[in-house]
Amino acid sequence: MKKLPIDDHARSAAPLSLSAKPGSAPAWPVRPTQAQAEAAVRTLLAWAGEDPDREGLRETPQRVAEAYLEYFAGYTQDPVALLSESLVDDVSGYDDIVMLKDIPVLSHCEHHIAPFMGRAFVAYVPGRRVTGLSRLARVVDALARRLQTQEALTAEIAAAIEKGLEPRGVAVLIEAEHQCIAARGLRQQGMPAVTTRFNGTFADQPAMQDRFLRLASQGNSR
Ligand SMILES: [Zn+2]
Repeated sequence: MKKLPIDDHARSAAPLSLSAKPGSAPAWPVRPTQAQAEAAVRTLLAWAGEDPDREGLRETPQRVAEAYLEYFAGYTQDPVALLSESLVDDVSGYDDIVMLKDIPVLSHCEHHIAPFMGRAFVAYVPGRRVTGLSRLARVVDALARRLQTQEALTAEIAAAIEKGLEPRGVAVLIEAEHQCIAARGLRQQGMPAVTTRFNGTFADQPAMQDRFLRLASQGNSR
């Protein structure tokens, strides 16, 4: 498993300081050590009714602490910078929808730290510049690997593309199933939540929204 340099992670982990009031020192300037994180996992295991010292759980705190670095690797990534790394300023006259479909989404809800999983559909109408298509997927991934709500994730993807590409419009649709709904409440699968965000030409022109939604549903077997 790839390990992030702890110091770098802490420096760029902006959400660690979200609870700080503007202008004051961040509430969480010091990142806990991995040993502290593992101790916290042991506490949660005991809270769940387990014996953290039993054979099968002995390595679990370390694994969970390291898994968190993967689940939440997005805090070290700047989605706007990801887009600008492969900008092309010449769109050769192309002025219609550019869309990437079925982008895998794995995120964690900020209310329960439970996974939500699904697919994103991202489209934009270029202004003066375009980016590599795979960059759209990288932006989705960078923002998904944070504690999120599906609504905020949808809006943040659109905002990053708007800022990074200055397109004439952005459309984002996410369809995802939330484990916290499946596990805590109704105990059933198969109830995906759908969220959308339309900016620019997609917000102004219902016909563009319709085209986006039609493209998103084409080939969709579900
Ligand atoms: Zn939740």
